[in-house]
Amino acid sequence: MTRRKLLIGNWKMFKTATEARAFAADLNTESGAAQASVDLAVCPPFTAISALVEALPESVKVGAQNVYFEEQGAFTGEISPAMLVDAGVTLAIVGHSERRTLFGETDAAVGQKAVAAVKHGLTPVICVGENLAERDANQTAEVVARQTRAAIAGLSAEQVAASVVAYEPVWAIGSGRTPEPGDAEAVIDGIRKVISEDKGSTAADAVRILYGGSVKPENIAAFGAQPNIDGALVGGASLDASSFARMATALAGGN
Ligand code: PEP
Repeated sequence: MTRRKLLIGNWKMFKTATEARAFAADLNTESGAAQASVDLAVCPPFTAISALVEALPESVKVGAQNVYFEEQGAFTGEISPAMLVDAGVTLAIVGHSERRTLFGETDAAVGQKAVAAVKHGLTPVICVGENLAERDANQTAEVVARQTRAAIAGLSAEQVAASVVAYEPVWAIGSGRTPEPGDAEAVIDGIRKVISEDKGSTAADAVRILYGGSVKPENIAAFGAQPNIDGALVGGASLDASSFARMATALAGGN
């Protein structure tokens, strides 16, 4: 199974709509060649989604950093899948570690969000990853298996095949530290085995699994070269268009 490489930028709570338009203009001049061989997506804050949908070429997808699982209702501050689709969004991050730790997002809620996203045609980008204490206690495989199982429980094998998983060790996010690419590969291979057990080998072979955590232009190729790593989910280094374009080129094998 050949899986196309995928680079997703997660802007977190950075950039206004005006700043997003400037990013798009810069990216359009910088990433042309890479766009042909790597799938690209940017997840801005909700308030910059329309600006990016208008300003980016159709080949660069716009994603959301979060989505709620209800259709509509008295849920102040939340955004529904249908609202995102209407705004031009095609993918949604669910279960980012900052949502889990700062906003109390549970494994069960992540599963509900994945189901709601898929129901509306959004690709869920399911984030899993151990924190430092869990890593030190050798619980990485157990933690990511539990998170993965809960996230995909309500999805069919075909829906899992079309989803994206991002393995993001919490201790690597924004820290400048990364696992060795071979260690990330081993964890991701384990995630694929869990998916195979629960949803079958066809889904496990097809689902794209990314690495995330302090990825930058200088280290992305080493992660992307691992057989089970299909690209990267990138925070800080995705904020600059030139850096994002360099990561796309490196992931495409042009560097
Ligand atoms: C992230 O926000 O998902 C992330 C991986 O952040 P950073 O690349 O800054 O570590």
